[in-house]
Amino acid sequence: MPTECPGIPARLAAVHDRVAAAARAAGRDPREVRVLLATKTQDAETVLAGVRAALDLADAAGDDRPVLVGENRVQELVAKAPALAELVGSGRAEAHLIGHLQKNKVNQVLASATAVDSVDSVALARALSTRCERDGRSLDVLVQVNVSGEDSKSGVAPDDATALAAEVAGLPGLRLTGFMTIGARSDDEALVRAGFARLRGIRDEVLASGAPGTATARELSMGMTGDLELAVAEGATVVRIGTAVFGARPTPAG
Ligand SMILES: *Cc1c(COP(=O)(O)O)cnc(C)c1O
Repeated sequence: MPTECPGIPARLAAVHDRVAAAARAAGRDPREVRVLLATKTQDAETVLAGVRAALDLADAAGDDRPVLVGENRVQELVAKAPALAELVGSGRAEAHLIGHLQKNKVNQVLASATAVDSVDSVALARALSTRCERDGRSLDVLVQVNVSGEDSKSGVAPDDATALAAEVAGLPGLRLTGFMTIGARSDDEALVRAGFARLRGIRDEVLASGAPGTATARELSMGMTGDLELAVAEGATVVRIGTAVFGARPTPAG
């Protein structure tokens, strides 16, 4: 049984309080920052409990934007898609892929995802665009940037990010809506913040370029349970939260 379920609404409300406090401290409107539910390892029932809690909070606030849900693995995205299908179909939820995507899984992802937040190469972007064009649809994407340079993280190198963004923005099947990063794994707040500031700088540079398709690239998806305050201070428009809403994940075996 998902024993965490009864606690999810209270925990999500606490996350919204943290986001709102961080936004106000930065002189920003809390409504500029959305919470994406990062649902890796959670079962479909728990994910739905999270989405319902988010919808309740949104309804109470008169916010009719869809609830954002993010999965890391294609397999999990596909497995939980049926549970979310009705809410996604009615526009009340969006299913995002937030983990690394291999080109050979593009078809599987497009069958289940509303958006791909982890585009990190031209080859992947072209594969997504070609397939979307063939299907007569368009896909929202973020370019993922590895601001920390840590080997364990995917994402394009910061120096290559503006060029990749311009390419992605020009592809007919895709709509570039912004940028995503995972913050440095460090206790050094200045270092973590500098990485988030770097992503904001890349976003601003791309917007200012005026290149075709870049005008929509406003989102900054950055900040997780441990560093959301720093990300909001640096301009995050989406924070991706797992642990603070669903509790600690079991450590994967191996
Ligand atoms: C797991 C994960 C999150 C959420 O992390 P928490 O620390 O559990 O909030 C956010 N983004 C990505 C890409 C993740 O893999």
